[in-house]
Amino acid sequence: MLDYDLHCHSNISDGTLSPTELVNRAAERGVKVMALTDHDDVAGLDEARAAAAKHGMIFINGVEISVSWRTHTLHIVGLGITPDHPQLADGLRSVRSGRALRAQKMSDELAKAGIGGVLEGAYNYAGNANMIGRTHFARYLVEAGHCKDVKSVFNRYLVKGKPGYVPHQWAVLEDAIGWIRGSGGVAVLAHPGRYMSGRVGMGKKTMHELLGEFVDCGGKAIEVVTGSHTPEQYAEFARYSKEFDLLCSCGSDFHGPGESYRDMGRLPDFPLGCRPVWESWEQTASLKVA
Ligand code: AMP
Ligand code: MN
Ligand code: MN
Ligand code: MN
Repeated sequence: MLDYDLHCHSNISDGTLSPTELVNRAAERGVKVMALTDHDDVAGLDEARAAAAKHGMIFINGVEISVSWRTHTLHIVGLGITPDHPQLADGLRSVRSGRALRAQKMSDELAKAGIGGVLEGAYNYAGNANMIGRTHFARYLVEAGHCKDVKSVFNRYLVKGKPGYVPHQWAVLEDAIGWIRGSGGVAVLAHPGRYMSGRVGMGKKTMHELLGEFVDCGGKAIEVVTGSHTPEQYAEFARYSKEFDLLCSCGSDFHGPGESYRDMGRLPDFPLGCRPVWESWEQTASLKVA
């Protein structure tokens, strides 16, 4: 099993644990190298790094940037970023800035569908109000008795075509990769198996076009082993990694106990022949915690 977990969330974005609680859980579960990759915000990295040092873990600065590409929302993980790099910090601020208005609109749409008072309830679940998002809405709607769990709320209310879904313009792919690279990081295409066209995957042709553009913009790696991929998808994206000469990454995408596909520290090995993303920083001593 891999003892690298390079994708997870704290309550700085839509996880339920604080950065310290998350790192403690990772350490207990045998993770040796960890990146915290909150959505669109780097405010948890200092706390997580300090917690990781206490466990003698290697800690990698990370972020997961929301991107709009054609009709899809994509997530681009940055690993080994410099959190206070001005271009990255400004870019992330601009991505975050649209969330408050979107949340207001989501609440208005849900009210039209007969569910009132959701905005305040959702904000109560957002540890960081700047990062208000769909998961906070989902947790509140479970609390209010509308669905049995977060997954059901998404399916019924929060995905395209459902009453609480509000289309949103996130960052441009080229910009997000540029901010990551400009701050010294490696850009990773997150959970490629999750990008859908309707009820099915985005299709081979579109995936080829996406990966071509990703590489042209300076993207260097792809998540092969991630919490939401099946073993068939590990093999599928391992093949894409070879075709596009991409490094391979792995991460649980853990959001909290009881809410995630996978817990931290329980990831299967890469398929044979994958070149791990950590090859790109093994020589870079500055990324390591002594
Ligand atoms: P947002 O950035 O506010 O649009 O929220 C996106 C987050 O919602 C993702 O990072 C996931 O944590 C969560 N999410 C998206 N789709 C689903 C789904 N179908 N079921 C459960 N959680 C989801
Ligand atoms: Mn999330
Ligand atoms: Mn994601
Ligand atoms: Mn994630």
